Amino acid sequence: MKYSNIEEHFDAIIVGSGTCGATIAKELSKQNKKVLILERGDNSPLKESLLGYAKISNEVRVTDKLKDLRAFTTGGTTAMYLAVADLPPIETFKNLGIDLTEDLEQVRKELPIAEISDGLIGAQAKKLSESAIQLGYDWKKKLMLVDQSKFNHNNYYEVKWKAKTYVEEALSNGLKLVNQATVSKVIHENKKAIGIEYSIGKKKNTFKAYGEKIILAAGSLATPIILRNSGIKNVVNHGFYINPSIGLIGSVPGLSSAENFCGCMGAKLDDDIELIDANFHRFLFNVGMLFSGKPLRIASYPKHIAITVKVKEPVGGELTEKGKYHKELTEDDHQKLKRGLDVADKILKNAGAKKIFKTGLISGGALGTIKIKEHVNTNLQTEYDNLFVCDGSILPDNERITPTLTLVCLAKYLSRHLIASF
Ligand SMILES: Cc1cc2nc3c(=O)[nH]c(=O)nc-3n(C[C@H](O)[C@H](O)[C@H](O)COP(=O)(O)OP(=O)(O)OC[C@H]3O[C@@H](n4cnc5c(N)ncnc54)[C@H](O)[C@@H]3O)c2cc1C
Repeated sequence: MKYSNIEEHFDAIIVGSGTCGATIAKELSKQNKKVLILERGDNSPLKESLLGYAKISNEVRVTDKLKDLRAFTTGGTTAMYLAVADLPPIETFKNLGIDLTEDLEQVRKELPIAEISDGLIGAQAKKLSESAIQLGYDWKKKLMLVDQSKFNHNNYYEVKWKAKTYVEEALSNGLKLVNQATVSKVIHENKKAIGIEYSIGKKKNTFKAYGEKIILAAGSLATPIILRNSGIKNVVNHGFYINPSIGLIGSVPGLSSAENFCGCMGAKLDDDIELIDANFHRFLFNVGMLFSGKPLRIASYPKHIAITVKVKEPVGGELTEKGKYHKELTEDDHQKLKRGLDVADKILKNAGAKKIFKTGLISGGALGTIKIKEHVNTNLQTEYDNLFVCDGSILPDNERITPTLTLVCLAKYLSRHLIASF
């Protein structure tokens, strides 16, 4: 449904329908709250295809050479994520005054969180795991957000949990979802948020919507810009982090594989360097080979094994006055990548891989632009009353876990506080 002018007054207006926005919408609408989501992307059915990905993907430059990938669509970036589900760092949040224990318990009951069962792990992932373990690395299964009970060996994309399912649940409870609505700023009076200004599609006209609680869940790179446009200037004053990553890929003669749930295993070399199984299922492998300029490898998909090296770099960089993100990677960051790549190379070679090549450097997720206890309080409220932030921007930098599960928990935590405060 598209709205240009919204006369109604909402209990809550949520900006963005990604992991956090969708979860909050579900929780509040379940309690009969009148909720509006303004979502920049479209609401087309999600499909894993080149055209489908091209339509929703959006990149933001974060270093001179790197862009961070995100998705503009109902359900946000979960429309193209891998569904690896690291558990939230409960102690880190407790130290910040936020207890997610109860939320995690609920999320564990609600979502299909489990390691991939042995029978569903492809030969490529097994080969890699055997090699890593043989060399003494602590190569372990990771949790994933995958409904394995519905898996039929073809539907890798469909069985991943996506935030869109929460939006659909909220819609059935009365949520209003406006697509192609790009929010520019928060309307506030006397340091109290009262509404949102947005435009529809490519039109320049702006529209307004009013509500009691305003929640920014537009993602870690969009939310700080909305806050700055709204007069909160100090966000991103410490920079952000991007977890620079590189893939290493080789071909094992004679290997013949079923497909894989990419990311389902891995090992930490130390606090700063992580190696992750990068055995994509066929569609993502093909996309990767096209982008790496290796289209001829597509035909020999079943022989390929791969590892992603992800490193922790210090928080830094800036959001310029003109709204551009920028950070420099240091020699130390490159050294960590090299250490990881050396180990990845050993593991691939030990597995029998030949013709090994390195992908380009990628951003492993630009996060942590906003600080809890500085830009938002422990209720995730900003310096403006009734204006909250809940998305990847508030993830602390000390533990670089895959964020989705933590974000679902944070969104449930905020929803509990909001419901109690109406
Ligand atoms: C290729 C890839 C693989 C990944 N794999 C994993 C993984 O395996 N495990 C994991 O945990 N994480 C993974 N991630 C990261 C994860 O998907 C994101 O960190 C997470 O979805 C962020 O949630 P969010 O709510 O902060 O933002 P998003 O999910 O990005 O949602 C933000 C929403 O806000 C909308 N929006 C943006 N700007 C505006 C605006 N101005 N007005 C209105 N709406 C706006 C966007 O369209 C979007 O729908 C991956 C990411 C990528 C790109």
